[in-house]
Amino acid sequence: MKVVKFGGSSLATGAQLEKVFQIVISDPERRAVVVSAPGKRHAQDTKVTDLLIACAKQYLLSGEAPELVKTIVGRYADIALELGLPDDVIDLIHSDLLHLLEGEKQHPDRYIDAIKASGEDNNAKLVAAYFRHRGAEAHYVSPKDAGLFVTSEPGNAQVLPESYDNLFRLRQQEGIIVFPGFFGFNQEGEVITFSRSGSDITGSILANGLKAEQYENFTDVDAVYSVNPSIVSDPKEIRELTYREMRELSYAGFSVFHDEALIPAFRARIPVQIKNTNNPAAEGTRVVAERDNTNGPVVGIASDSGFCSIYISKYLMNREIGFGRRILQILEDDGLTYEHIPSGIDDITIILRQDQMDEVIEQRIAKRIKEELDADEVTIEHNIALIMVVGEAMRHNVGTTARASKALSDAHVNIEMINQGSSEVSMMFGVKEAQEKQAVRALYQEFFAKVLV
Ligand code: ASP
Repeated sequence: MKVVKFGGSSLATGAQLEKVFQIVISDPERRAVVVSAPGKRHAQDTKVTDLLIACAKQYLLSGEAPELVKTIVGRYADIALELGLPDDVIDLIHSDLLHLLEGEKQHPDRYIDAIKASGEDNNAKLVAAYFRHRGAEAHYVSPKDAGLFVTSEPGNAQVLPESYDNLFRLRQQEGIIVFPGFFGFNQEGEVITFSRSGSDITGSILANGLKAEQYENFTDVDAVYSVNPSIVSDPKEIRELTYREMRELSYAGFSVFHDEALIPAFRARIPVQIKNTNNPAAEGTRVVAERDNTNGPVVGIASDSGFCSIYISKYLMNREIGFGRRILQILEDDGLTYEHIPSGIDDITIILRQDQMDEVIEQRIAKRIKEELDADEVTIEHNIALIMVVGEAMRHNVGTTARASKALSDAHVNIEMINQGSSEVSMMFGVKEAQEKQAVRALYQEFFAKVLV
């Protein structure tokens, strides 16, 4: 059995839905289909999820949003019209949305989550109706009935372990299961969504629960590329990579696959195949537990911006018991998460996503570190980009760091910091955002485009 997930751009028009149908019926193993909400039809378009968020917010403010409701229902109606589906499917979607919008507003986060999730929920109903219209046996399955339970953190749900056994029971279901992505239910029966792009997570959870042989993730590119194609034109496609490599790359800006989505598939050792709905014959990229290292030390280079660093220096820091713990406690008190902590004997740098902090938080933290830890220096730097050079084979290769830093220095990129994770799957370079692209190109040139003699 295969679990197949389709992203928003694969479901944005009637023509796309027909491609999805053809892909699913071409392989009888494709028994469970996870869908996103309709995505962008063209570059300037808006995703239904974003329309739903705007609609929920407007309702909270003014108790109505007739234009947005019309636009949202219109998106489904256009698809249904294109596919010749009867009006009653759209009437149901319309009344479901109005019903949700009139719902309980005491907890705005949960209210927004319920509206947001309706994008995938109603799309699953629409897709199931279309499959039936085309003569296939297909059933919409609600995550509630299937027992997909999650924690209560709106917009950041985590799956609860009992869900996997519950979902296993779906194996008894006849025909094709059409399952909405992006959300589950908490113990109180409320809808809670995963983080954005979280339908990938649902697919992975379902693959684990159903003990699928493969999790296929259909998107709109032929493969995962070794570097962002908007930075380097026509980059090399990656045929195979490990879960760890994929996790590092998707964490640092590879948007093809949600970085949290690998864990459930990884735990059950289910291979993930990334494929293109618009070109299903293309080989795609396979994510597996282990691979033969045939590509050289580096499999991909990712980069992401929007980080800041807190540099703390104190003479004899290395001798002071509890210094690190106390810094982290200060961050915890403000609810901040950190990404990396490169350190030396008398200094430590903490790298965080800068959108978590405003000026007030920043100043409070800097003051507390300086006063409570008696630090000699505390400096906060903004607009840092992190570049991850990723590859399992770096572990066995001598000189990869030297090659990377030489490539950067030849390109006149100033390295703000380096961190080689203890796993040796990745190497991280911090550079100024203004030099991000230059740095990525130099590294790509070194590891992928250079002919070694
Ligand atoms: N539709 C949701 C989003 O835009 C979830 C998804 O597409 O995976 O974030």
